[in-house]
Amino acid sequence: MAEEQQAGPGRPSSAARRIREAQVVLVAAAAVALAATLAYGVPPLAALAGFVVVAAAALFSGRNRVRPPPRVRTVQAAPLWPDTGMKLAVEAISDPCVLTDSAGIVRFQNAAATERFGPPRPGDPLSFRIRAPELLAAVERAGRGEAVEPVHLVERVPTERFSVAAVTAIRGGRRAGADFVMIRVADETERVRMDRMRADFIANASHELRTPLASLTGFIETLIGPARNDEVNRERFLRIMLEQAGRMARLIDDLLSLSRIEMKLHVRPSAEVDMVPLVGHVLEMLAPLARENGATLRPDLPDHPLVVRGDRDELVQVTTNLVENAVKYGRQGGTVTVSLVAEAGPDGAPGCLLAVADEGPGIPAEHLPRLTERFYRVEADDSRRQKGTGLGLAIVKHIVNRHRGRLQIRSRVGEGSVFSVWLEAVGADAPDFQKMSSP
Ligand code: ADP
Repeated sequence: MAEEQQAGPGRPSSAARRIREAQVVLVAAAAVALAATLAYGVPPLAALAGFVVVAAAALFSGRNRVRPPPRVRTVQAAPLWPDTGMKLAVEAISDPCVLTDSAGIVRFQNAAATERFGPPRPGDPLSFRIRAPELLAAVERAGRGEAVEPVHLVERVPTERFSVAAVTAIRGGRRAGADFVMIRVADETERVRMDRMRADFIANASHELRTPLASLTGFIETLIGPARNDEVNRERFLRIMLEQAGRMARLIDDLLSLSRIEMKLHVRPSAEVDMVPLVGHVLEMLAPLARENGATLRPDLPDHPLVVRGDRDELVQVTTNLVENAVKYGRQGGTVTVSLVAEAGPDGAPGCLLAVADEGPGIPAEHLPRLTERFYRVEADDSRRQKGTGLGLAIVKHIVNRHRGRLQIRSRVGEGSVFSVWLEAVGADAPDFQKMSSP
């Protein structure tokens, strides 16, 4: 029998085990049969038959039959649902965050995800709302319990947007794969934009420096080579070299200014600066340049102080850059008006408005939003001819931002441009500020 074949060398056979298990019944049955014969005169054959029946019943009854080993029931754990604690934790994450089960079915999403991907529809596959094959593949792998690298996503419409999705398997410990997959999408657009800007900036700065450097190298080679004894051209070449060296120096100065301002961009200047004498000083400094360009500088300044909180050197630089541009790009023989007035900001804060108006050809509207970008020029050749670096307005914007002020550019083609800077005034004690605050 199969059962007996299973018995190993050291184990008792199944028949022996049955006899041992039924031995109490067998002994009792034998005693009863003996007593019945001896005490009650039951015929021995009948007593033996009775014993055999009881013994057979004891040996082959169901109770003694070898039971098959208990079958181990494999319990398939039911998929978990996100509990309240988990939902609260996911809700507290500021980035869009979606929870799916291991099959990629959406179970929960936070408010930021609703804003980004639309209202929640638990039960929908993730693929209904996010159509990025790499992300869906990552969610599938995470659902199997695999570790997954962050996935970089790029959207082109409606605007270019860069994100990185962290896909994490969450295990409750009861299943082989993941119980949940958490997808957290962080917006990287600003970082990518900054990286691009930095790369562009380095490329532009290198290009701007390389041009005069190449010119200098060329003239040096000429002077030590073919023009070694050329008395006539030597001086002309040296003048060009001086000009190119000056261009490099201006560029390096502007680059250093930008980097200095950027380093303290988050620290608001605290000194008190009267703008009236400051603007007067800048106009005096630029009088020779104005003469050279045939421009007339017309100051329109109040006869009382207009004190702002700021950094004097930086405010001199702002005023210089704006007046210099108005002279350089304004009309030949035209007037540049530089005015200072007390003017409240949009929130009513007392302030001071510096406006530089020229009568130049003006700037076409499409260029206006880009004028403060580094190295952005409307007419590159004109700028270089005017000893421009393309950094002047970028520096102005940075300084104004550091002062928590505002730069406004208005221009009309054929009529001229007005560059104005609003700065917050110190206190409201100046007469004009008092006038401003009264109804
Ligand atoms: P740049 O060193 O070339 O002058 P800026 O950053 O100061 O650089 O100015 C950027 C560009 O804006 C200039 O190249 C010029 O094309 C234009 N621009 C600036 N100011 C004026 C102005 N007052 N009138 C016309 N165009 C101007």
